[in-house]
Amino acid sequence: MTSRRDFLRVSGGCVAHVLLSSACASSGTRHRWTAPQQPVVVTTPFAHLDAIGPDTWAVISTPLGGDRTTFGNGGIIAGRAGVIAVEGFYRPAGATWLAERARELTGRWPTHVVLTHYHLDHAGGVQGYARDGSAAPQLRSTAVTRTQALGGGPVAPVKDASLERAFADVVVVDATRTSRIDLGNRVVELIPLRGHTASDLAIVDENAGITFAGDLLWNGMFPNFVDATPPQLIASMTQLAARSRHAFVPGHGGMADRASVARYLDLLGDLGAHAGRERAAGRTAVEAAASYRLPASLGEWMASKTGLERAMTAWWRAPG
Ligand SMILES: [Zn+2]
Repeated sequence: MTSRRDFLRVSGGCVAHVLLSSACASSGTRHRWTAPQQPVVVTTPFAHLDAIGPDTWAVISTPLGGDRTTFGNGGIIAGRAGVIAVEGFYRPAGATWLAERARELTGRWPTHVVLTHYHLDHAGGVQGYARDGSAAPQLRSTAVTRTQALGGGPVAPVKDASLERAFADVVVVDATRTSRIDLGNRVVELIPLRGHTASDLAIVDENAGITFAGDLLWNGMFPNFVDATPPQLIASMTQLAARSRHAFVPGHGGMADRASVARYLDLLGDLGAHAGRERAAGRTAVEAAASYRLPASLGEWMASKTGLERAMTAWWRAPG
């Protein structure tokens, strides 16, 4: 069930966006969207946890079944000196679930949590990593993500004392340069980017060939442009796509390879070209959305009228 909370708080957020975008899709399309491509180690009604590399697992959320415990994707990156949990998920139960899986798979509770951005479905459950009587993992986010996550805005987490506690000791990530978490036998890079929001982080292990792209990358689901700046989004994704041999964990949808990332960039390029033509012809963003047709060559993308209008509105805001 979709609660009143979901729709009132996040009508512009990724939760309502994903539900709207998928509303008219066939059951085959909905199923294919999150179908596993890697060995699955755990399956639940809300997500599967896939082994995607050495001591690295991706949470691929399956929210179209109705259980929205995690809602967005995330994962676990484990090393000798620590374990990074990627994302705070939608509900605290999602974060707790991932921490318990980390303990099963690696023998330890996460030592670090990294947020890719502030949206409710990525940060809303971050307090679920806390444990009674034990140290909580060290939270890392950019200053903008912290401010927005605690700002109580329409697509931000529900602000309460437990959320404030989770952010109380946050280690702020420098948004002007790449920073690193040294896990002993592997180094994980936090790459500051922009485009899905004013401050996004990609989480990269170059040696393992793995990139957690957050919502800079969507796979098979039309992206949510509610906070997006399209020219920055395209620049950020183009930069990440240069890691062409990486396995990419998108913010939403199944694992993405080089072809899926190229298809996504083609979608963004096609939207930008359409926006440019329509603006030049003096039309409004809503008119441009109405006349847009997703090219069949780009494959299956679940999309909604609202999502297309939001995309065109973003291009009208920042034409690039
Ligand atoms: Zn988002």
